Amino acid sequence: MTDQEELRRRVADFLAVHDPRSTPAMGWLQARYDAGLAWVHFPVGHGGLGLPRSLQGEVDELFAAAGGPDNRPRVNMIGLGMAAPTILAFGTEAQKKRFLRPLWTGEEIWCQLFSEPGAGSDLAALGTRAVRDGDEWVVNGQKVWTSGAQNAQWAILVARTDPDRRKHAGITYFLCPMSEPGIEVRPLRQITGEAEFNEVFLTDVRISDEWRLGEQGNGWRIANTTLNNERVAIGGRPVPREDGMIGIVARNWREHPERRTPDLHHQLMELWVEAEVARLTSIRLAQKLAAGQEPGPEGSAMKLTFARISQALSGLELELNGADGLRYGDWTMTRPEEVHFLSKDAGHRYLRAKGNSIEGGTSEILKNVVAERVLGLPAEPRFDKDLPWKELQR
Ligand SMILES: Cc1cc2nc3c(=O)[nH]c(=O)nc-3n(C[C@H](O)[C@H](O)[C@H](O)COP(=O)(O)OP(=O)(O)OC[C@H]3O[C@@H](n4cnc5c(N)ncnc54)[C@H](O)[C@@H]3O)c2cc1C
Repeated sequence: MTDQEELRRRVADFLAVHDPRSTPAMGWLQARYDAGLAWVHFPVGHGGLGLPRSLQGEVDELFAAAGGPDNRPRVNMIGLGMAAPTILAFGTEAQKKRFLRPLWTGEEIWCQLFSEPGAGSDLAALGTRAVRDGDEWVVNGQKVWTSGAQNAQWAILVARTDPDRRKHAGITYFLCPMSEPGIEVRPLRQITGEAEFNEVFLTDVRISDEWRLGEQGNGWRIANTTLNNERVAIGGRPVPREDGMIGIVARNWREHPERRTPDLHHQLMELWVEAEVARLTSIRLAQKLAAGQEPGPEGSAMKLTFARISQALSGLELELNGADGLRYGDWTMTRPEEVHFLSKDAGHRYLRAKGNSIEGGTSEILKNVVAERVLGLPAEPRFDKDLPWKELQR
């Protein structure tokens, strides 16, 4: 029996015992995890069966067709897309046991405490300090742009533990409980009117050494695993042809012949081709991941392309809508549980797309990554990389 046939049999056996119509959603998700049918490429005992990642899509489809509940992937994007692969790669067995199951089921939502007011593109300059105190670390500092911190129970956190070492070497990675005293989450309002993200202040926050991920001082390497996975999660998701923004704009074009002009037609044709090339490239990237390879700089290239096309398409949609394109639905401040990239109106899509070239690494920084690591061009001059962090001008 092939892996695929064996998996189909396991799904059928699981559904015969756990009928989604009569099992409470959380119990059903926990049982699915325990059966190794959560993410089949994860190891046995951690929600998987150690099978190729390429088999996951069919498992998800079979469960969805049977009416199985989902694990809130849009609310827990950071947990599923970034924290989980990082914990899998660098966590101890005890950490994997503690965190992966409630993360996958959606019982625990995660956020990302990386960026700071003085450390965004230059994340390695971060200044949030973690000082060892017995079996705990005491953390002080400020993070910013933290998406979903208002909903999160846990955070992936990078903090400075060795200020005497050079900036990339003195960082340690922690799993931080968001309920700890000393964590204050304040909303930041965006151009859309919503407050998806936050400032997070950490004052004498105590984190057990048990929740340190990897070795002290190895945080930069671990953070790069997180960031590579983030770029793939944002830009590298394979979609059907004419899905997403291009689908919305193409539909608008077909349904409203009165809005067409030669110039808009030209723009649409160009963007349609670019969106299709990007889609085919994302399939190649997905095949690479399915073959068990780590996401590398290709994820940066995909994310760069995604940001450019999505901004151009959302602008074209406003043009197509003529004077109506200038209206904006509702600017009341809301605290959305999940990020709406596409599901709201044209005005919201246009404004939200502005963040696409900033979140997960700005387009300028991703161009540097592609230039240096894909094209092999000379590196940007970096004068501070060998200086102790405490001597850097900040
Ligand atoms: C919607 C959204 C959600 C986000 N969610 C999170 C989150 O959950 N957690 C988190 O930690 N962060 C989050 N971020 C933060 C994001 O990662 C940072 O905004 C981003 O890394 C840029 O950092 P910065 O804002 O400090 O800009 P800066 O680094 O100050 O950059 C300012 C400008 O200078 C340019 N620049 C900087 N350095 C260079 C260089 N070397 N070469 C060329 N140009 C350069 C940049 O491209 C940019 O245009 C989010 C951001 C957005 C927009």
